[in-house]
Amino acid sequence: MNLLGPAEVRELAARLDVTPTKKLGQNFVIDPNTVRKIVRAAGVERGDRVIEIGPGLGSLTLGLTEAGAHVTAIEIDGRLAAELPRTAEAMQPELVDGGPEVGSLRVVHSDALELAAEHLDAQLERPEVLVANLPYNVSVPILMHLLELIPSLRSGLVMVQAEVGYRVAAGPGSKEYGSPSAKAAWYGEWRIAGTVSRRIFWPVPGVDSVLVSFTRRDAPRGTDVERAQTFALVNAAFAQRRKMLRQALQSVLGPAQRVVELCAAAGVDPTARAEQLAIDEYLAVARAALAAVT
Ligand code: SAM
Repeated sequence: MNLLGPAEVRELAARLDVTPTKKLGQNFVIDPNTVRKIVRAAGVERGDRVIEIGPGLGSLTLGLTEAGAHVTAIEIDGRLAAELPRTAEAMQPELVDGGPEVGSLRVVHSDALELAAEHLDAQLERPEVLVANLPYNVSVPILMHLLELIPSLRSGLVMVQAEVGYRVAAGPGSKEYGSPSAKAAWYGEWRIAGTVSRRIFWPVPGVDSVLVSFTRRDAPRGTDVERAQTFALVNAAFAQRRKMLRQALQSVLGPAQRVVELCAAAGVDPTARAEQLAIDEYLAVARAALAAVT
């Protein structure tokens, strides 16, 4: 076997003197079957360019390279980032020799939230697929940051805290629908792809996890300016989610009468509440507001 099981994960952590921290969301996968299931569900094929956030000890990374992917892995913890190439070399020596039939691995020691455009060409080689067991407390900001930063990213499969996953994949009118759902929908389609037992992690987390898949839209919904205005409206609407839009949007659009006029121009009911609007309706109001100032 060339993946990490429970004994290998614990032995590696002990050797590196790593005590998993909650602050960095360090719950490591110890089950090779789950790893192979994730790699299959992500549709990763030989030769795909994959970005992984938070490779940790390498549980998922080795599943991706085993499938022949070219993986760029971004890890914030310096000890883990330094060890991962050695782990990969020990477990899958064929990676080092290279060749068309095997994948490859590049590890970048960085905070995923601080990845910037200048890293892209040099280091990230235009990844097409995101596969990650994301650190729980920053999973949504990381997803938003990567989708914005990496236009080549076409699809992904991420493991996140269940509550967050259901929120990201929710549609208008459902009780989980919130600003993360509306913003995620800007970029494409999201759906729950499966649930994951707590027992496949070490240490066992206090929350359930789900797999969420996404497929990016073929064309962006709007320009950067339209996105910024749309997200400002989404933030304002959900900050006062029990209020009608004609009140909640005043902080961005101005007095109630103006909000009503802009909603009318956009074909949106100003007495609706935040959770009733799809992202395209927020965009329509944003466009009306931008047209009114130009
Ligand atoms: N992929 C590994 C696995 O499945 O076993 C580890 C997943 S663990 C849930 C999350 C990982 O993300 C940890 O290795 C942690 O150090 C790393 N991490 C936390 N915050 C990060 C950030 N802002 N940028 C990059 N990596 C981060």
